[in-house]
Amino acid sequence: MLIEFNGACSIANSIVKTGLFRSVNMMINNHCLDQAQQVMSPNVDERPDEEDISLLVIHCISLPPGEFGGEYIQQLFCNQLHGEKHPYFAEIQQLKVSAHVLIRRSGDIIQFAPFNKRAWHAGQSSYQGRERCNDFSIGIELEGTESTPYTERQYAVLNEVIDCLCANYAGLNRERIAGHNDIAPERKTDPGDSFEWARIS
Ligand SMILES: [Zn+2]
Repeated sequence: MLIEFNGACSIANSIVKTGLFRSVNMMINNHCLDQAQQVMSPNVDERPDEEDISLLVIHCISLPPGEFGGEYIQQLFCNQLHGEKHPYFAEIQQLKVSAHVLIRRSGDIIQFAPFNKRAWHAGQSSYQGRERCNDFSIGIELEGTESTPYTERQYAVLNEVIDCLCANYAGLNRERIAGHNDIAPERKTDPGDSFEWARIS
C-alpha cells in the first residue's frame, strides 16, 4: 500500500479520524488538486507571503440563487457572466471574484486558482484580529444555499479536500476553518444554517 508518495494525502490520518478506510486518493501537484477540473480565473493574484496559507474559508453560492447545476458560477468566476440571462446576473456581472475551489452538488470539483495564489473570495474580513483573509486563506465554495441541506457527496468530498490540504500545507489544520460569516459577520451569512459544522470537525 502506498502511503508515502510525494504530496499524497495522509491515508493513515483519515483512518484515525473516521475509523473507516475512506477512499483517499486525492493529491495536490503544483498547488492544484489532481481530481479537480482546472478552470483558471483571471481574478487571482499573488499572496503577500506564499508560504502563509493558514485558514480555510467555507462559502456557498448558487446561480441563479437557489438553482443548481448550471455553468453560471464558472462564468462568474471567469468574468463571463451575461447580465441579460437573468436580472440577478445583471447586478453581479461586474464583480471580480473567485475562489480556489467549487464543490458541486454532485461532488465534482472545479479549481479556479492554484492554492499558492490569492483568490478573491473573502472581501473585507478579519480572522482572530488579522484582516484581509484573502492574503492567507483558501476559499472553498459549496454549490448550495444557506437553507438547503448540502449533499452527502459534498460533505464526503469536502472532507477529502480538507484532509489533502492539511497534509500539504503546514499552516492548515481542522481548527483553522471558518465560515465566510465568521470572518465578515456584518456582511455575510454563508455557508448558513444549512451547513453542518460537526460533519467536518
Ligand atoms: Zn462567501
